[in-house]
Amino acid sequence: MRGVTRREVFGLAALGAVRAVVASGEAAAAVAPGEGAAAVAAPPQAVAMLYDTTRCTGCKACMPACAEANGLEPDTAMSGGIWQMPLDLNAQTKNIIKLWESDDHSQWSFVKRQCMHCLDPACVSGCPFGALEKDPLDGVVAWEPSRCIGCRYCEVACPYEIPKFEWSRFNPKIVKCQFCDHRLAEGLQPACTAACPVGAVIFGNRDALLADAHERIDAAPGKYFEERVYGEHEGGGTQVLYLSHVPFEAIGLPALGPTSNPEYARKWPRRIYQWLWGPIALYALVAGVIHHRWRRHETEAHQLERETGLKEQL
Ligand code: SF4
Ligand code: SF4
Ligand code: SF4
Repeated sequence: MRGVTRREVFGLAALGAVRAVVASGEAAAAVAPGEGAAAVAAPPQAVAMLYDTTRCTGCKACMPACAEANGLEPDTAMSGGIWQMPLDLNAQTKNIIKLWESDDHSQWSFVKRQCMHCLDPACVSGCPFGALEKDPLDGVVAWEPSRCIGCRYCEVACPYEIPKFEWSRFNPKIVKCQFCDHRLAEGLQPACTAACPVGAVIFGNRDALLADAHERIDAAPGKYFEERVYGEHEGGGTQVLYLSHVPFEAIGLPALGPTSNPEYARKWPRRIYQWLWGPIALYALVAGVIHHRWRRHETEAHQLERETGLKEQL
């Protein structure tokens, strides 16, 4: 069997260095377009909801309307089978009105919870099989059953704890608000916004609802918490927007920065590739020096061979 000569070892080392440099360059180039993009642009026809705690009377008309429009059995487990009164979102409840009260009973508020239809949804990027998708036009985040294997990564990934798993079924589904996309397809508004008798939750284009929210803030200084619209920037932005007279965190809306979780996840591999450039460049430099010295040694050996007639081991 033929042994590997020093010439072949040096050749492979130099080739490996070149390949590593080229590969890391390709990897860096592949992630470069999203570089530095913290906020996410809304889709061109982004639909939205605006919920205002100061207008909600807690009548809960939106809850049975949601259940009926989505073919969900009312969750009456907590009421001995009489009233629909779930404690939280669950596999039978895509929309809920909750009551929050401060410990000293000086402040209280109703809050409506459902999927936020994030501009850069963590559930979509967390699903390994593409079972959750964000519509590129209206931005609705919907679940596709044929691709779901039930791993529940979407549940873990969602910063708002929205997707729920149908534990009681043999073939369980992921349940979450899909923005009544079947109604939108018929030119109707979502069932919850249609049912609200006081306009506490309204439907429309995201830009128009953001403008409406800011008008309300400007018209009533001091009325709304921090005079800001939750969902304009939080977590990269959402298509469900909130105005609140009490702290957002108190009513269950987490404090999130303007960068979405998926954007953080995309940034870290980018940083790793950036940090890899140093060692790779050093490796290439060392391989270049070795290659250069090897060529010089080879030339000297050939010259010695010619002069002495003795074969030098290369
Ligand atoms: S229907 Fe409107 S007012 Fe009644 S609970 Fe729902 S959001 Fe609030
Ligand atoms: S709120 Fe959760 S489930 Fe809804 S789009 Fe955002 S990440 Fe997905
Ligand atoms: S948009 Fe439809 S599914 Fe979503 S909370 Fe409103 S009624 Fe329920």
